[in-house]
Amino acid sequence: MRTHARAVVIGGGVVGVSTHYHLVKKGWTDSVLIERKELTSGSTWHAAGLLPLFNLSYSVGQIHKYSVALYKTLEKETGLDVGFRQVTNIRLARTRDRMDEYRYYAGVAATIGVEVRFLTPAEVKDIWPLCNIDGIVGAIQHPDDGYIQPADLTQALARGARNGGGEINRQTLVTAIEPLPSGEWKVVTNKGDIVCEHVVSATGNFARATGAMVGINVPVLPVQHQYVVTEAHPEIVARKARGLPEMGVLRESDSSWYMREEAGGLLLGPYEAGAPACYVDGPSDASEYELFPEDLDRLTPHIESAIARVPAFGEVGVKKVYNGAIAYTPDGSPIVGPAPGLRNFWLNEGHSFGVTAAGGAGFELAEWIVEGEPTIDMLGVDPRRFGPYAQKGYLVEKNEEAYAKVFTIHYPDEERVAARPLRQTPCYSRMKALGAVFGSTYGWERPNFFAPKGYALSEADLAKPDVLLNENHPAARVGEPVREKWSFRRSNYFDFVGAECRNVHENVGLQDMSAFAKCEVSGPGAERWLDSILTNRIPKKPGRVTLTYLLTRNGGIRAEFTLTRLGRERFYLVSAGALETHDLDSLEKLLPGDGNVRLDKVTTERGVLVLAGPRSREVLAKVADIDVSDKAFPWLTARNLSVGVAGLLALRVNFVGELGYELHHPIEMQNYVFDALMEAGAPFGIKPFGIRAMDSMRLEKSYKLVGRELSIEYAALESGLDRFVDFNKGKFLGREALIAWRDKGFANKLVTLKLEGATDADARGSEPVTKDGRPIGRTTSGGYGWRTGKSLALAMLRPEFAVAGAEVEVAVLGEQRAAIVIPDSAYDPENRALRG
Ligand SMILES: Cc1cc2nc3c(=O)[nH]c(=O)nc-3n(C[C@H](O)[C@H](O)[C@H](O)COP(=O)(O)OP(=O)(O)OC[C@H]3O[C@@H](n4cnc5c(N)ncnc54)[C@H](O)[C@@H]3O)c2cc1C
Repeated sequence: MRTHARAVVIGGGVVGVSTHYHLVKKGWTDSVLIERKELTSGSTWHAAGLLPLFNLSYSVGQIHKYSVALYKTLEKETGLDVGFRQVTNIRLARTRDRMDEYRYYAGVAATIGVEVRFLTPAEVKDIWPLCNIDGIVGAIQHPDDGYIQPADLTQALARGARNGGGEINRQTLVTAIEPLPSGEWKVVTNKGDIVCEHVVSATGNFARATGAMVGINVPVLPVQHQYVVTEAHPEIVARKARGLPEMGVLRESDSSWYMREEAGGLLLGPYEAGAPACYVDGPSDASEYELFPEDLDRLTPHIESAIARVPAFGEVGVKKVYNGAIAYTPDGSPIVGPAPGLRNFWLNEGHSFGVTAAGGAGFELAEWIVEGEPTIDMLGVDPRRFGPYAQKGYLVEKNEEAYAKVFTIHYPDEERVAARPLRQTPCYSRMKALGAVFGSTYGWERPNFFAPKGYALSEADLAKPDVLLNENHPAARVGEPVREKWSFRRSNYFDFVGAECRNVHENVGLQDMSAFAKCEVSGPGAERWLDSILTNRIPKKPGRVTLTYLLTRNGGIRAEFTLTRLGRERFYLVSAGALETHDLDSLEKLLPGDGNVRLDKVTTERGVLVLAGPRSREVLAKVADIDVSDKAFPWLTARNLSVGVAGLLALRVNFVGELGYELHHPIEMQNYVFDALMEAGAPFGIKPFGIRAMDSMRLEKSYKLVGRELSIEYAALESGLDRFVDFNKGKFLGREALIAWRDKGFANKLVTLKLEGATDADARGSEPVTKDGRPIGRTTSGGYGWRTGKSLALAMLRPEFAVAGAEVEVAVLGEQRAAIVIPDSAYDPENRALRG
């Protein structure tokens, strides 16, 4: 065994071996992989081997696409047959909402180059003659999809890595991982130590135990997953004898199962509600090729629905039931990227479709480790999308939920209910009493919108066709009515959001944005350091506020901050709540090592109430102890003031494009401040507003969000951040690369689109944009703007089409809509309201 290596990958499942393979391919030929037992002896050996390309996430979709393309090449490269069968994959739909999901997905697929076909029930019958098509309204098919032999795939990747010089040590247990003063890691095993620069944890069901070795909480916990294999069926055997092709993978999404042919019989894999989390305290030391006892009761409703759909399934006996552990995360997507708080420690964990994802996840992680950045925006799988709140109890509830919802319709406005309400701000109950319907982000409860007093959806409103998965609304809590119905289209809350927007526009609104990530940066080196990493000039005077960006070293966008200068050596940085760990970890990893800069996280110490609307100044004037006139307190400045007796920091900025203030206050004084504002605002028509109203209004201002318009894939100037990138201020991270990118020419430009003909559905983001049917870009966000009466989208287009007045098309739920490029900021382009 080598004693020194550039990288050590821990875990010899398909994910670890793929990471090792890709590191070797990138030229790190002295990489070492360590597996405690045999390769594939964790979850990989018993996987059903399906390679579903279907995924609504832009990141995960691209990861899966890469995998399938790679797997097709491995036999040629390594000489090992990986058992790849491109039998295609059909997903059935029994409801209109399901078809909406497929139509939306087909748009995402088009933007990432994955082929999808729509099938009629009769076409399904042609391909799958054993399938009963009663009740089917349509289907989609992935021609490139199929299945593979997971163990053979792993062995082929292992051979590819070994051929390139990579070392694989089986029957070798990692017992400790220690940081060395040199900045390297010492990986301690039962067969000796290895000193290395980088460690990759790809330990599947052991992820939490591996994380504990380096003191981090890895939000991964497995759930039990079963599949059933039947004896051979004469009709399938006969089809084979006649040389007919395999019928392909069949998914009845509305009954939550997949099925494919297996050795002349059928294999059925349901995702059942009630499947328990497992290995809650980790697998045992002896765990190897481990299966759990079968639980047929849990499978029964799915088996019954499978027999109704494919009667042949009930006509032969069960040969074997596999019940194994499948790693999960709270949102069901894997964890691929840097570990928070640690240098050169990487996670490739939490894979529930690990056979499908291994190729792409291994490739992207190797790019990230070797080149410093992945090739695609990985925010959707970044380990830092979760925070310290995601501890064991939370994981049990959320991961079981994520498993049970693999096949539910992934509505864009879905708000899952498990492990809630967890993080409540002090004004939670007050907002609730005012009608708040909450959503959850990063564990925080935030009002999405406000329903009128006594409002409830009736049984009839919620009635859905009789399918096993029948959820288009949150499960009702005891004593609480259901007040939202999820949809790809405009739903029941559409007009409530409109009323909130109108009130903010005409009067004044109050919003709880306490979830914002917040930190203070201080010390003698603070200004110099911030100036060296951020794109915009650091304000010279205390009390000045600016918007500024952290770029990648390639010139893409990593993070956005509202920066306030508090004093000579003190700065206050605010960014998106959901990105707290991501943003602060990114900053921490850039801190100079000289002790001259301090970074203190203050997120949970400070609440934020947003007061916005033309009457907001009058409301604030009534309760503030300072002059809040425009002259004394202009736009883009901050003031320390008291609301009544509560001292706080007010920033004259907001995300909705009206006159307004963010009031950053000690969290324990929140209700005092809240009550004072509501009382003072009553004569001015103050009403609360939620995230959905804010999103509608920020679209009308063409304001951008990280993870949508802003990402590592887009140069800061492609995303229209020209005003916030000051090339003249001196060096900053990413500056030279951004200039080089600009000189080379940009491939994209962010625009605002106005969509014609929208009556019941707006764009949501990730829709394809075309010109005369040819692809020219993708939307990044979309929705309805109530102040302008326009259906809007933000979109990344090829620059030649990104000119005001250009006529293009946007496919909204499969329907081609005419759209026109309009100047940015459909509402108040001169910022009169903001400056008012
Ligand atoms: C019944 C079932 C069916 C499935 N079907 C599919 C499917 O059809 N398609 C699909 O894409 N996915 C499927 N999956 C999921 C898939 O099996 C997993 O996502 C995938 O195998 C995860 O691979 P991995 O490499 O992350 O983990 P694993 O295969 O579990 O590998 C982790 C390895 O790390 C090793 N390890 C842990 N700790 C240490 C240590 N300290 N020192 C050394 N080594 C260590 C373990 O021994 C283990 O071999 C299925 C899962 C189940 C349970």
